[in-house]
Amino acid sequence: MTTIPIKQISEHSSSEPEVACSTCRASCCRLEVMIITDTGVPEEHIATDKWGGETMLRLEDGWCSAVDRDTMLCTIYENRPWICREFEMASYECRNEWENRN
Ligand code: SF4
Ligand code: SF4
Repeated sequence: MTTIPIKQISEHSSSEPEVACSTCRASCCRLEVMIITDTGVPEEHIATDKWGGETMLRLEDGWCSAVDRDTMLCTIYENRPWICREFEMASYECRNEWENRN
């Protein structure tokens, strides 16, 4: 009698890399981040539009100015905007950015 091998099925197949910030290079930090509450973001990282709306300043390379370009980590983590705090790793929005990572 032949037996059918049973394959372990996990949430992530081994050929599919798992979504993780460590393999991402801060993809979500290229999105527009509105500052809607005061969390103490330093002035030099804030862009203000003509209506007074505040967003995180993005530099010519597209990333938020608070990203350390060597480590790709947030340099103002304790003071990051509310939107950054709410952005969850492996969420739908995260996966969209992670798929376009470079
Ligand atoms: S896009 Fe997702 S995986 Fe990439 S840095 Fe942001 S939270 Fe982490
Ligand atoms: S404040 Fe920090 S977490 Fe938010 S976009 Fe900028 S670098 Fe990323």
